Parts: sequence; structure tokens; C-alpha cells
Amino acid sequence: MPIDDAIINPERTPIERGGITWVPLTLVVASLLLLAVVPMLVQSWIAEAREEIAVAAEPARPLVAMVRGSLDFEAAGARAFALTGDPEFASAHRYSQVRRIEAEAALLPLALRLGPAVHEPVCAMIAEVEAVDAALDSLYDGRLPRSAYRERSDATQARLQSVIERTATIDRLLADAADDRRRNIRSAERIGIALTVGLVALALVAALLVFRLGRRYRMTALRLEVRRVELERVTQSRARLIRGFSHDVKNPLGAADGFLALMEDGIYGPLSTPQSTSISKARRSIHRALDLIRYLLDLARAESGELSLHPVPLAIGELVQDVAEDFRAQAYTSHLALHCDVPENLPTIETDPDRARQVLANLLSNAIKYTREGSVAVRVGARPFDGGRDRREWIAIDVEDTGIGIPADQLRRLFTEFTRFRPEDADGTGVGLAISQRMAAALGGRITVVSEPGRGSTFTFWLPRRSR
Ligand code: ADP
Repeated sequence: MPIDDAIINPERTPIERGGITWVPLTLVVASLLLLAVVPMLVQSWIAEAREEIAVAAEPARPLVAMVRGSLDFEAAGARAFALTGDPEFASAHRYSQVRRIEAEAALLPLALRLGPAVHEPVCAMIAEVEAVDAALDSLYDGRLPRSAYRERSDATQARLQSVIERTATIDRLLADAADDRRRNIRSAERIGIALTVGLVALALVAALLVFRLGRRYRMTALRLEVRRVELERVTQSRARLIRGFSHDVKNPLGAADGFLALMEDGIYGPLSTPQSTSISKARRSIHRALDLIRYLLDLARAESGELSLHPVPLAIGELVQDVAEDFRAQAYTSHLALHCDVPENLPTIETDPDRARQVLANLLSNAIKYTREGSVAVRVGARPFDGGRDRREWIAIDVEDTGIGIPADQLRRLFTEFTRFRPEDADGTGVGLAISQRMAAALGGRITVVSEPGRGSTFTFWLPRRSR
């Protein structure tokens, strides 16, 4: 890559762009978070299941046994009371009924805690017990004569037996609910261990990746620093070389031009027409060489950061108009229309007017030079730069031509010095754009270009409203 390209478009690795590191970093953070959260969730789930066994499933079973015992006792008592009419049976029944109702009341919330599989059968059993209670109550309080009860006793006893069987079913359901929860606890413990081991492994792998990327990152940073220092060294030594060379060449060329000027003025006697033509051609060549030396000096200064800048508040519209007027005669001689569109309410900007003028003049001179027919238009306006990603306020100066255009594959080299695409089309040195781009950068801006071969080009000179 030429030095200039390296300066303007340094190649950046994905690490330099920060594109890779977020993956392992996210993995580390995510696995650490999961490592903290997953065991907590598993433990709280296990604790809840244990509590359901301890405070619901196990305490419910003695209550069911008590209901069952009471019902057994009440069935036998009812049979004996119907036969004997002994009031002792009635008071024993009441006592047993009260204990049973207490047990049922205590059982209901526990069944609810264990879910509908237990709660619904318990509710059904209690509803049935209440119906049997009503029948027995009417026997004991005399509303149903004992003789009548005896006739119907089979049905009541059968209902009592069915409720007693229900209690056996409920007891089994309670035992199953406790077993289910124990099984779930064992599975959750196994899953918790497997998850923790997996997450630890993931965190280790991600940490290893971060470590390796960190090492690569440091090495890349080191490589970049070495490259920067090397570039600086090369740029400085090239600037020194150009300064020395220019100085050594400029003086003899100036002296030669001086002598030729004296001859042209006839100091050494009159000149024949061929002599005078040759002398003017020689002087033109010397002036071109001196121009090139001046450009090279500017380039060297811009590259090594020695370009002196004097930013002042500037009415940029006036400057654009002024530069365009300077080129009106040249455009006219080249048979080109020159349009200049400067809106009235342009803001004042802070920049170095001489450097801004130099950049704009180069773009306009090129536009005229590389356009055979049609027009050149200069427009200026406030516009966001880089699709608005750069939030500063910008002024954009477009120089649009209907000229020969530039092939897309050449655009990247356009701002590298000594780049000339079709040298046969016009005189030139190939350093104007290189210098302009560096000057634009020194002013805090830059030059962008869109172009289509055969249709024309638009060079845009971007300037921030405030210098850095
Ligand atoms: P020079 O014009 O002295 O050759 P520049 O650095 O100004 O040097 O331009 C470099 C090259 O870019 C030119 O030689 C030309 O090939 C191309 N170029 C510059 N401006 C234009 C333009 N407006 N239209 C077409 N080509 C251009």
C-alpha cells in the first residue's frame, strides 16, 4: 500500500474495529449471570417442593386417617343407636362429628396447596359426608324415627362405606403427591448439577477466548504503533528530502529563468524569431518545473503537519463566488458554461481562507481542464456529512462538471500523488488532488468524489463550521 493510502485509508483488522471481542465477552457475562441465577432458581424450586411435602402432603395423611376413623365409629354408632336408642350413642356421635369436622377444615387448605388432583376429591368427599351427616342428625334428634331409619339403614350405611373408601383413595393420592415431589426434587438436583457444570465449562472457554483475544489485541496495537512510528519516520524523511531537493533545484532553475528573461528583453542584443520562440518555450518549461517544486513543498508541509493555518471567521459564500469569478475567463475560453449557486443565508464559518481558496481553485481548475463540452457548476450549502454520523455542522461545496469522468476502479488512487489517469487529455502534475485532500484534512474537512466515465464528476469539498 502506498504511504498516502496508508495514511488516508489504513487497513484495520476486525479486532481493531472491535468486531470480534464482544462475542466471548457476552458469553462470559451471560454464563456468569446464569451461574448466579440458575442454581438460585433450582434451589428455590426444590425448597418449594420440600415444603409442600413437609407442610401439606405429610400432615394431611393423619387428618385423612382421623376422618376415616371417625366415619367408621359413626357408622357403628348409628347402627347401635337405631337398635337400642341409647342416648350415649348420640352424645358419642356428636363428639366424633365435631372432631371430624375440625379435621376436614384443617385438611382443606393442605389439599388446596397440593393442587386440584388432591383438592377436588377432598371437596367431593366433604360434600358427601355432609349429606350423610344430615341423615344421621335427623336420626339422633328424633326427626327420623329409629324404625324408619332401620328400614333405610342399608342405604345410609352404604353411603358411609363409600365415603370411607374415598378417604382411602385420598390417602393414596396424598402418598403419590409426596412421591411425585420427591422424584421431581431428585431430577431438579441432577439438572442443577449438569447446568452448573455446563455453565462453568462455557465460562472457562469464553474466558480463554477473551484472554487470547486480549493478547492478539495487544499485539495488534503494538503492530499499529510500530507502523505509525515507521510512517511518521518515512513521512518526515521524505519531507526533508523534498525540501532539500527543492531548494537545490529551485535556485539553479530561478537563475536560468533570470538569464533567459534578460535575453528575452534584448539585453544581450536583438533575437531572431526562432531564438525568441525557443527562449519563451524554455521559460515555460522552467515555470512548470518551478510550479511542480512549489506543489511538492506544499505536499511535504501538509504531510508532515507543518502547514501553517490561520483560521478566521469567513463568509464562505463570498469566497466561493470570488474563486468562481477567477475562473470565468478560463471557462469562457474553453467554451464551457460556468454556474455558481450561492444561497444568501449561508452561515459564517471559521477556517483559513487562503487554504480553502487553494483547494477550491484546484477543484475548479480540474473541472474545466477535464471537461471538453457542457458546463461546470459550483454549489454551496449546509449539509450533514457522512450521512449524519458526524454530528458537527458542515458546509459542502460541490464542483460538478460534465467532463470525461473517472473510472470507479481508479477512484481510490485519485488522492495519491502523481496519479494521472489520462495524461494525454491535459497538462498536469498529478499532485493537485493529493495536496488538496491533505489541506482539506488540515482544515478539519475532506474531499469526496462521485464520478461516471463519459458523464462527469462531482467533487465535494467538506468544511466543518468550526475549525478544530
Ligand atoms: P493534475 O490535474 O495536475 O493531473 P490532480 O491531482 O489535480 O493532478 O488530478 C489527478 C488526476 O485526477 C488527473 O490527472 C485526472 O486524471 C483526474 N481528475 C482530476 N479531476 C478530474 C475531473 N474533474 N474530471 C476527470 N478527471 C479528473
